[in-house]
Amino acid sequence: MEPLIIDGKRISKEIKDELKEKVAEYKSQGVEITLAVIQVGDDPASTVYVRNKKKACEYIGINSKSFELPGDTTEEELLDLIYKLNDDSSITGILVQLPVPDYIDPNKVINAISPKKDVDGFSPYSAGCLYLGVDGFVSCTPAGIVELLRRSNIEIDGKHCVIMGRSNIVGKPMGSLMLNNNATVTITHSHTKNLKEVCKTADILIVALGQKEFVTSEYVKEGAVVIDVGIHRDENNKLSGDVKYDEVAPHCSAITPVPGGVGPMTIAMLMYNCVQSIELIKTM
Ligand code: NDP
Repeated sequence: MEPLIIDGKRISKEIKDELKEKVAEYKSQGVEITLAVIQVGDDPASTVYVRNKKKACEYIGINSKSFELPGDTTEEELLDLIYKLNDDSSITGILVQLPVPDYIDPNKVINAISPKKDVDGFSPYSAGCLYLGVDGFVSCTPAGIVELLRRSNIEIDGKHCVIMGRSNIVGKPMGSLMLNNNATVTITHSHTKNLKEVCKTADILIVALGQKEFVTSEYVKEGAVVIDVGIHRDENNKLSGDVKYDEVAPHCSAITPVPGGVGPMTIAMLMYNCVQSIELIKTM
């Protein structure tokens, strides 16, 4: 069977082009969207992510304001900056690139961001809205996965979706989002018994383990849709995912590649949240 290879690059471009039009419309009404991007230290992977986010802002017409803080910034200094940006009416979204250095508590940082500017959707308020199925910022990677499915005409309603991983940024919000879209949801983790058997019951298998090429064809039902969230970079800078792509793909009806699948969608949905903030804050 030839699977549909879900093209995250094309779909993310489609979304960014739609957003570009929307931003131009806002601009013509005198509404400016400005994302504050905070990075602490100079972790090379974070620097690449931040650069790509700023590039996406530029493409769409969103202003970005960079705060590159030294690696020895204290928790208090970082929190003070966030509080200042919360109160600054010219800033519509705040993003702190994670991970922050070990001595800073990421939960305190996430909690400090005003729910009205929480474009990453990580705050307890945003997570609560998603859990309750009411309007709020949705964590970007799960939101991107639903857009990939929707724009590839893959039905979610009534499907059994197995999510491998229960992190606060991918697995858990993914579970809520699929449930809100009427899937029957199972979330697995490191204590799950009979993992292969559970995964093999999935119509849609979403893999967010952080284990390179962990998922083989033994985990996949014939004709399933497989979404690979994992990102691993080898010493030659080659990217791979949590799924053994070449082995698994022939058994799927649709699959996301790495790179070019979920990755580009995360940034597109961050941009979506930045634009969405203009409407969302009216309801908060
Ligand atoms: P975490 O490490 O936070 O979570 C991994 C989850 O997988 C945990 O719930 C863990 O279980 C579970 N798990 C790990 N190993 C096993 C195993 N052997 N059997 C069963 N369950 C297991 O990862 P994230 O959710 O943050 O990220 C997952 C992957 O996605 C990473 O590769 C990351 O780089 C990538 N990622 C990609 C993004 C993108 O834009 N494409 C965005 C975010 C992440 P337990 O809870 O029991 O420990």
